[in-house]
Amino acid sequence: MQDKTNILTDSFNRKHTYLRISLIENCNLRCTYCMPEEGLKLTPKSQIMTGDEVYEIAKTFVANGVSRIRLTGGEPLIRKDIKDIIKNLATLDVSLSITTNAIRLAEFLPFLKEYNVNRLNISLDTLKQDKFKHITRRDYYQKVMDNINLAIKEGFFVKLNIVLIKGFNDNEIIDFIELTKDSAIVIRFIEFMPFDGNKWNKEKLVSYDEIIKKVEANYQKEQVLRIKDAPNDTSKNYQIADYKGSFAVISSVTNPFCDSCNRIRLTANGQIKNCLFSATESDILTPLRKGEDIRPIIAKTLQNKFKVRGGMNTLEKLEDASLHTKNRNMTTIGG
Ligand code: SAM
Ligand code: SF4
Repeated sequence: MQDKTNILTDSFNRKHTYLRISLIENCNLRCTYCMPEEGLKLTPKSQIMTGDEVYEIAKTFVANGVSRIRLTGGEPLIRKDIKDIIKNLATLDVSLSITTNAIRLAEFLPFLKEYNVNRLNISLDTLKQDKFKHITRRDYYQKVMDNINLAIKEGFFVKLNIVLIKGFNDNEIIDFIELTKDSAIVIRFIEFMPFDGNKWNKEKLVSYDEIIKKVEANYQKEQVLRIKDAPNDTSKNYQIADYKGSFAVISSVTNPFCDSCNRIRLTANGQIKNCLFSATESDILTPLRKGEDIRPIIAKTLQNKFKVRGGMNTLEKLEDASLHTKNRNMTTIGG
């Protein structure tokens, strides 16, 4: 039975308790799968949510059942008022976390600790300096590695996000897993997803099955343990026996996890997206600025959510550029 009393429950009775907020469209990297080399045509600043607006919208979501908020972007740590935003959000009854490329992380660690932002998702697609420069189009490898190591040393719970691209970094899968031997981190391999202009095709995809085959070819079968996934987890979790950390695959393309989806996204310019793959958005910033109630818009957006992947329920549909190019890229949606 569908719960019609809660605005965050959709027509498939999925309860949306996890809000991901993109705070900024811009970034200090230019990852090839995410952003064009010249950067994005940015939304004018006047149309980007102010810190106060982020807080107001988040407050409405929390009052209606959101219990987790993740801040993302673009690169959230380059937003000038990021500390004020975190300070305000920390007053809400919600678990706060952040996704970052770690370039500016060192200077923020004491602050993040003070406000209980202890869970960090960090992007790192390769363990090789030259490949890092190639994929991000910037030369920050050493800084990022140093900052990741510092965060681990300081006791943060670190997950590394690796977008796998065939022929580029699929030969580093085992090297990444070996990082979990002595460190209680989580390595998350993400299937490369199609977005507007990122030149996606099926041949570049390293699928969940391929990843697990590579792992099983390298370790003995009984060493590879399938461990329990957390409720609403988007990843399939594994561990190598006796290793301190674990690894996971986020298989949004070949094995979507839509049945248990509890996520809703807010873009930096105040649009709600009911699914990462959705081609449509609902503006809540304009009504908020007019002093209107945003709850009916949130409810309607959730009611319109497709059962699977924004309606792209087959690989063929995902390959159809005319469908996914309507969807803007990750940096403006907030990955
Ligand atoms: N700048 C921060 C970072 O890189 O961690 C936060 C924003 S970034 C858009 C969030 C996540 O989206 C990153 O882990 C990135 O790897 C992932 N991402 C971006 N484009 C992607 C794509 N085409 N397929 C899969 N993951 C993607
Ligand atoms: Fe920036 Fe993150 Fe996109 Fe890379 S993945 S360009 S770090 S927003």
